[in-house]
Amino acid sequence: MIEFREVDKTYSNGVKALSSINLKLNRGEFVAVIGRSGAGKSTFIRCINRMHEITSGQLIVDGTNVAKLKGKQIRRFRRRIGMVFQSFNLVTRTSALHNVLVSFVPELPLWRKLTGIFPKHNKIAALTALDQFGLLDKAYVRVDQLSGGQQQRVALARTLAQRPDIILADEPIASLDPVTARQVMNDFREINEHMQIPIIMNIHHVEIALEYATRVLGFRDGTIVYDGAAKDVTPDI
Ligand code: ADP
Ligand code: ADP
Repeated sequence: MIEFREVDKTYSNGVKALSSINLKLNRGEFVAVIGRSGAGKSTFIRCINRMHEITSGQLIVDGTNVAKLKGKQIRRFRRRIGMVFQSFNLVTRTSALHNVLVSFVPELPLWRKLTGIFPKHNKIAALTALDQFGLLDKAYVRVDQLSGGQQQRVALARTLAQRPDIILADEPIASLDPVTARQVMNDFREINEHMQIPIIMNIHHVEIALEYATRVLGFRDGTIVYDGAAKDVTPDI
């Protein structure tokens, strides 16, 4: 469902971040992307939802040739892909509920988003999404009053509200303490197992990656040097 064919990515400053990537990722996989800083992991993930454009080769996502998308199609395509970041990327001065709602109803006019007047059925759905992550009692709390783990769970609720076909996660636990990190990884696992949503995650905690992922991609200098089951990984990638 995600296929890279001879994909290269060279940034405008001449840095070659990806070279000759060939890969097929399947539905239902939980993929951990590991490797040193600068290896190309983040570029790899960000090419999938076209936050970055590939330089050559082909990238096919669910039958869509990503490089060929234009204007409105890009926005529509991105909405099918949930993105979770290290820094949560929430609007911290508004409530958890508001953060979920805004992504839930992308078509609403801006004035409605700003004034916070949302249709009732959207509100119920957003509250349900927060409830799934044990955050119902935090719905009306400002995001900057929540812990890191709670914020990442709001981000997950927001992402799921979007009903994504794929979830990309760029170091989602890097700023969390080890206990909270595992709780958030459990949430990812649940989403992957119960909803069959494939997850592609950059993660520098190799041990945690091996514990949760079904497949591991090891990057070095813009190429994939390891691709296999988590159980077969030796720690020196
Ligand atoms: P990783 O996620 O593994 O740390 P990145 O994909 O961020 O690796 O970076 C791969 C290489 O591309 C690095 O040399 C990095 O400096 C470079 N790079 C990343 N983003 C950009 C960018 N927007 N413009 C130019 N070079 C970039
Ligand atoms: P693209 O070719 O994908 O559009 P650009 O080369 O235009 O990417 O860079 C995108 C942004 O990333 C620019 O604002 C640039 O300043 C920034 N950037 C440049 N070098 C790096 C780097 N080494 N790591 C991360 N970001 C970078």
